[in-house]
Amino acid sequence: MRRGEAPRVSGVRLTYSELRVVGCEAVTPRMRRVTLAGDGLAGFTPVAPDQQVKLFFARDGGVPEVPDPPAGLDDVAGWYQRYLAMPDERRPWMRTYSIRRHRSAAREVDVDFVLHGDGEHDGPASRWAAAAGPGDAVGLYGPSVSHLRTPGRHDWKLFAGDETALPAIGAWLESLGPDERAVVVAEVAGPEEEQRLDSPASVTVLWRHRGSAPAGRSDVLADAVRELDFPDGEPFAWVAGEASAVRDVRRHLVGERGVDRRAVAFAGYWRVDRTHDDASTAEELADHAEASAG
Ligand SMILES: Cc1cc2nc3c(=O)[nH]c(=O)nc-3n(C[C@H](O)[C@H](O)[C@H](O)COP(=O)(O)OP(=O)(O)OC[C@H]3O[C@@H](n4cnc5c(N)ncnc54)[C@H](O)[C@@H]3O)c2cc1C
Repeated sequence: MRRGEAPRVSGVRLTYSELRVVGCEAVTPRMRRVTLAGDGLAGFTPVAPDQQVKLFFARDGGVPEVPDPPAGLDDVAGWYQRYLAMPDERRPWMRTYSIRRHRSAAREVDVDFVLHGDGEHDGPASRWAAAAGPGDAVGLYGPSVSHLRTPGRHDWKLFAGDETALPAIGAWLESLGPDERAVVVAEVAGPEEEQRLDSPASVTVLWRHRGSAPAGRSDVLADAVRELDFPDGEPFAWVAGEASAVRDVRRHLVGERGVDRRAVAFAGYWRVDRTHDDASTAEELADHAEASAG
């Protein structure tokens, strides 16, 4: 997000909750599931299978402090300015994550964190998740939708993404009906990063490994979609992951496969060599405008 821009607000619930870690488990060697709980989740109302939340991590490892929640939708930009105006040492890191599962009665959510894990590319959220343990505090703001386009008429769904997309894809697959068809193309580092994805629908999952290539620096996702034998009928495509890989996949779907661009929902979830706090490039702003169009 460009500093000084407001967070996206479409479908947002203006609820801030202070939560505690109540459990952690390894999904794969490089993905850690953190269960967060708190009474603030009493009002958590799911908005979509691929819902995103803003998480806040205190710089000193304690309880994050944020400005009072916005008074309404027209105050979200003002809230963000108040957040940015906090002194650096008190302003918590804000990062975007998907809700993998929500257990309403228990007031719990699961968030699956990719552990970048090489020391060089760790960020505050990935570091926090790697070390998180029961009782640790985190702030949560949301949820809101992660993709601005939702399925219209279509015959089957295509999900394409890297590890960061898997929590939303997992939630999507669980939400499908038994009569639906879906194909998942998932880029992960290697076979040890494949995870179980359940669905009542008829789903084909194609795992693709980038091997020794670092995350975000491989063409395997776009190549796998290029090589895919499309089932008959019109698809709805959902794409997420590293921003330039997402752009490649979208261009292929619209430009070479002739998929209606309104049937391609896409979002860059992270950028190589840039943190969440770095400004958006002109290309990313154009992507966002295209993702919101129609
Ligand atoms: C709508 C939405 C939903 C998302 N859902 C999830 C989710 O459920 N799980 C999840 O893990 N991520 C998810 N992400 C991606 C996550 O927000 C980013 O990866 C974020 O940059 C992580 O913050 P950080 O503090 O660890 O790293 P940052 O401080 O943002 O970045 C530090 C360094 O890490 C690199 N980096 C960032 N992400 C990765 C990565 N995945 N692999 C390798 N290097 C990386 C950056 O290029 C940079 O060099 C989502 C993003 C969006 C927009």
